[in-house]
Amino acid sequence: MKLTADFSALHRAVAPLNYSVAEFSIAAQSSELESVAADLLQGQVLGKDIQLDEIDGSQGVLNYNGHQVMLYIPDQGDDILVVLNDGKQGRRIHIAECSTLEFMRNTGRFGRYDVISRMDGLFPVFGSNPETGEHVPGESDLGVCKNCLKVLNYQRYDDLPWAEKGAIFTDFNFESFFETYSSFFKSLPTSSASGQSGYTANWAAISTKIRRQLNYHCEHCGVDLKDHTRLLHVHHINGNKTDNRRENLRGLCANCHKKQPHHGHLHVSREDSLAINNLRRQQHKFDVFDYDRLEEFSDTALEGLNSKCRRYHLPTPDLGVMVKSGMQVISIDLAWPRNKVAVLINPKEQALLQSAGWTVFTLGAAMKQFESFQKKVR
Ligand SMILES: [Zn+2]
Ligand SMILES: [Zn+2]
Repeated sequence: MKLTADFSALHRAVAPLNYSVAEFSIAAQSSELESVAADLLQGQVLGKDIQLDEIDGSQGVLNYNGHQVMLYIPDQGDDILVVLNDGKQGRRIHIAECSTLEFMRNTGRFGRYDVISRMDGLFPVFGSNPETGEHVPGESDLGVCKNCLKVLNYQRYDDLPWAEKGAIFTDFNFESFFETYSSFFKSLPTSSASGQSGYTANWAAISTKIRRQLNYHCEHCGVDLKDHTRLLHVHHINGNKTDNRRENLRGLCANCHKKQPHHGHLHVSREDSLAINNLRRQQHKFDVFDYDRLEEFSDTALEGLNSKCRRYHLPTPDLGVMVKSGMQVISIDLAWPRNKVAVLINPKEQALLQSAGWTVFTLGAAMKQFESFQKKVR
């Protein structure tokens, strides 16, 4: 099916923020996205279906062609029966550019790994029965690599005392993990338990009415979204999408919505996340700013770095800062304007910002080269 869409309204909507919207064909892009996603749900062989240099780890998490991926070894050898019984006894899932991946990149040795993208925490595994030698396939709830947790400082793993690190490992939830970094990627993997439906038939009308009554202001952070109404959502507080009593509903901007429990597979793009922070800044929501407010308002993907900056007592970074470089305006994910230091997620904008005199780090570089990063920021 060929879809033609009129993007003029979208262009007008983003024009005040100086975003350029690339023209694209919805039909071509979405079907390609879906087939790649379906392949990744099953697992693809590293070195055969997907090459290691096609996986970008510069932001810490692993990006293959716009999809968030993980690496693991399906072959559990003689341990297969033990691993099917308790996945935490098996081989680990790599979720970040950790030393294992660095070793593979440096040596070119990466046999037996699969690339996978799914959120249910189950992974296809196989091995051989140690007694009979027969081939045993199955699915197992493998544990996450602790080195990866440290690299990302996921849920402050690296900042926590030893005893509490164990709980982050044990309670690790792949769905929450994907949601934390969703703004870096085109979409979330499809989930078998995904509940995109379940709304009542009159939901659209109810939602529209509430958003109008609020005059398109977020009930949590107060940002005014009159010119960007699509960024104001209506959230069901108790998670029950058929419970449309007013006291169960809350009008929230996409960023505040994503941070609520029971939000259910909400994918907020980086552009939307930045647009909301640009507006909050323009509307003086950030005039008083400290680490508590940073935690409240920043993209969840930046939490690991923010927490590390706080632990090292670095000056608080600013959100929603826009910098002009020639004819273009660049929105910065995290900015220290006094020192002109930026953490930037979109690598395409790095050169532009550098030419405006800024020192630019990717999220991955800021985490890994933290010594030199903190010297620039102080
Ligand atoms: Zn790892
Ligand atoms: Zn809000």
